[in-house]
Amino acid sequence: MSIISVEHLRFRYNSVDVLRDISFDVSAGDFIGLVGPNGSGKTTAIKAILGLAKQTNGKICLFGAPVQQFTEWHRIGYLPQKLVHFNPHFPATVREVVSSGLFSTKKFPRRIRSEDRALVDEAMRVTDVTDLEHELIGQLSGGQQQRVLLARSIVNRPELLILDEPTTALDPEARENFFALMVELNRTRNVTIILVTHDIAGIGKYASKLLYLDKEVVFYGSFEDFCLSEKMTKYFGKFTQHLICHRHGDS
Ligand code: ADP
Repeated sequence: MSIISVEHLRFRYNSVDVLRDISFDVSAGDFIGLVGPNGSGKTTAIKAILGLAKQTNGKICLFGAPVQQFTEWHRIGYLPQKLVHFNPHFPATVREVVSSGLFSTKKFPRRIRSEDRALVDEAMRVTDVTDLEHELIGQLSGGQQQRVLLARSIVNRPELLILDEPTTALDPEARENFFALMVELNRTRNVTIILVTHDIAGIGKYASKLLYLDKEVVFYGSFEDFCLSEKMTKYFGKFTQHLICHRHGDS
């Protein structure tokens, strides 16, 4: 079964096409790098998949259910592109922010129980924010806040993780660590990942499939197939094609 199925998705802002006839399927265990120029519709596509962009045409299913009828949102972790700017005095600690990611699975009264504590501990450990657990979120650097929000998005062990430009506030070392964490979640826990990035030269090291959007699907498939595609050579030129694919030197 497809985790995500998108058929003939079309979206317009003020009668201008932002997405044209987009179709693709995501299977369990895929790690998809979603790439494309600025303004190519990546964020809009993500929002449409999550039912956040209204008035789309086409059909979107999540875990087999049409998005309009989908209710199991706890199966999906989402880290949006725009970070919340926390006031330095915002009255929540790192532990509280991460714990709040459990609320989507809970009915009232929303209380954190001891088994939840273990999940929060683990999410903080893998994102390396344990030492910050008692700090106020607003006192942290942008990179630290991003890791806390990532911890929040993975705390209830989602099967699908959608991350929109998650590494922009990270320095190069933190970025490498972040990608290593994604690879680990994908390979050892079979978490399906869609990661939006403009880092075309880096994503091929980590992701297993490439979805290149430019208002329409320019390419969707494995990096190996991307590398071998003559159509992509014509589209990007050899240099950029192999910069993206990262496999060329190995073959
Ligand atoms: P990307 O994520 O690839 O940079 P977006 O999905 O954010 O692209 O945007 C795609 C296009 O839609 C851009 O041309 C952008 O200007 C336009 N757009 C995005 N959000 C809005 C909005 N709220 N109102 C009008 N146009 C928008």
